[in-house]
Amino acid sequence: MARKFNFSAGPAMLPTAVIERAQQELLEWNGSGMSVMEMSHRGKEYMSIAAKAEKDLREVMSIPDNYKVLFLQGGASSQFAMIPLNLMGDKTSADYMNTGMWSKKAIAEAKRYCNVNIAADTSEGGFTSVPTQAELKLDPDAAYVHYTPNETIGGVEFDYIPETGDVPLVADMSSTILSRPLDVSRFGMIYAGAQKNIGPAGLTIVIIRDDLLGKASSITPTMFNYAIHAENDSMYNTPATYSWYVAGLVFEWIREQGGLTAMATVNRRKADKLYAAIDATDFYGSPVAINARSWMNVPFTLADAELDAAFLAGATERGLVTLKGHRSVGGMRASIYNAMPEAGVDALVTWMQEFESNPG
Ligand SMILES: *Cc1c(COP(=O)(O)O)cnc(C)c1O
Repeated sequence: MARKFNFSAGPAMLPTAVIERAQQELLEWNGSGMSVMEMSHRGKEYMSIAAKAEKDLREVMSIPDNYKVLFLQGGASSQFAMIPLNLMGDKTSADYMNTGMWSKKAIAEAKRYCNVNIAADTSEGGFTSVPTQAELKLDPDAAYVHYTPNETIGGVEFDYIPETGDVPLVADMSSTILSRPLDVSRFGMIYAGAQKNIGPAGLTIVIIRDDLLGKASSITPTMFNYAIHAENDSMYNTPATYSWYVAGLVFEWIREQGGLTAMATVNRRKADKLYAAIDATDFYGSPVAINARSWMNVPFTLADAELDAAFLAGATERGLVTLKGHRSVGGMRASIYNAMPEAGVDALVTWMQEFESNPG
């Protein structure tokens, strides 16, 4: 067996230890006589799996007690509609920062439900930087401020948490959640699709402060209402049971690695190694402002784009796969989430150096 180093932006690698554990438990979970996939979500076995996953996530992220954790479906993309539907209350507008392809999508969807004030916009620079706190044009009467701390496609990451006063801060953390310690209390709501840094696709995690529940607009579909999901422990309908279970194994794995502090140390080192390799030569380049460089998604270009295909082919031969950049950006993108071993980054750096000295 040769597991590849998969640099996909998502679905992304899972820790091998987690997949092995799932494999051990695949046919029969813990003497229950059945697979987790076959369990009633209301049975005591599954309820214990679900509760443990939540408990471990709360522990790993130090989530305060006045926040609910919801295990939903529909991807981060459904949140783009759920957020305005649930959080507008009696306000008329919400602040959005436009810093890349994902915030752009969030904004387009929000405009169907509320007035959107663009509090910052980095599109002119091609989404290669983050706005400073002083540049934010925040409306003190906004229902909330939405931003994307890590833009997965552009590889642009905020190096600070915006200060928004009494206005709740809402963050799409799909590609950065669990990458380092985080002060959850700074946020009104955090959400993330699972398939990047949490677990398998099909699960979406929402962490929401209690006082933001119960304000949904009357047209909100039942399945889009956070309060309904909170009241029902995310079991109003059948949840993504298996994805939830595997996410629980990932939370345990993070704890075993030493928690988010340990994750941050390794992630920092992985990113530093890769950016150092990019910066070491004019053969490679990064379009992203240095202070805005993502730890998780590292886009880079070859000075001679004619060499892209040869670079990718050689990488694939070495087991370094899914490095092709997003169609909107071009070049390469290495997504190096928690589950990407440091050895994968080392192998990529070695290949970059080898290719430069002998570019096909
Ligand atoms: C991947 C991604 C999404 C979309 O997630 P889905 O679960 O596919 O809907 C949204 N926002 C960010 C920042 C992402 O990285």
